Amino acid sequence: MPVRHVASFDIGGTNLRAAVVAVDDGTARVVSQRRQETPNHLILPAMSAAERLDAVLDFIVAAVSEARQSHVIDAVAAAFPGPVDAAGRIAALPTLWGDDGQALCPLALDGLLAARLPGLPICLFNDVTAAGHRFVGQHRDFALFTLGSGVGLKVFIDGQAQVGPHGAGGELTHMVFDPSPGAPACDCGGRGHLGALASGRAWQRVCAAAEQDGQQPDLDGFVEPLARAVAMLHYALGLELFLFSGGLSEALGETLRAAIVRRLPEQGWQCGQDWNAMVRLAPDDDAHALIGGALAACRE
Ligand SMILES: [Zn+2]
Repeated sequence: MPVRHVASFDIGGTNLRAAVVAVDDGTARVVSQRRQETPNHLILPAMSAAERLDAVLDFIVAAVSEARQSHVIDAVAAAFPGPVDAAGRIAALPTLWGDDGQALCPLALDGLLAARLPGLPICLFNDVTAAGHRFVGQHRDFALFTLGSGVGLKVFIDGQAQVGPHGAGGELTHMVFDPSPGAPACDCGGRGHLGALASGRAWQRVCAAAEQDGQQPDLDGFVEPLARAVAMLHYALGLELFLFSGGLSEALGETLRAAIVRRLPEQGWQCGQDWNAMVRLAPDDDAHALIGGALAACRE
């Protein structure tokens, strides 16, 4: 099959990223990319959710037309930081537009994009699902955690993301891991969720508090909820591979991985698990969703 070029997007809560990804026989490389700040609800609170959505659509359409000046584009892959249901609709996008955008959901964004990009196949993904597709060529059964401004998780079984009919699969990160009333707030509006306890923002908070007290930040305490989530998935599904990616994982690297491994034996029955082999760091090139989305778009 000839090399295919995919206009691939990673629509994050902080940055909008666009790339041209060349896919050749199951391998992919980023040919060019650009990014701009996301018009999210925190930096532009006066903007309505519909206006934010329009700004994202404009970004995608402009980037595709720019990409078409130098490449024949075969497909568009777009990854979003929210659950995507079985019909390909976005079920929620709190990191992009806060609570006021929920009225737009479920959102058939592929239809909106298809109307503005006629003739191009459009593939929408949850961003962690897209990222996971990067690893499907090497692994069939695994969980991928992304530790960024929030925490993402997807479970892949036999190379397929397990998301369920309404896209809830993997949203373990929005379960309560700290039930105390003063637990940190999550982007989704809840409190004490894994996403609020184990994100990059949460680690910054832990570090700032420790500095104020003249102490070292307690990394082993910080990673305990992550270790619990790993153990839940291992004991529920028998998974034996847990990949960690995202800005916090890249920043702390082996220190973070080793801390998670240290907290695992206390989480449940020890029957010979080699936690050290099961918990791994993903490559830190920060392009998983761009590359994985493009690979998945070419497999469809
Ligand atoms: Zn949450």
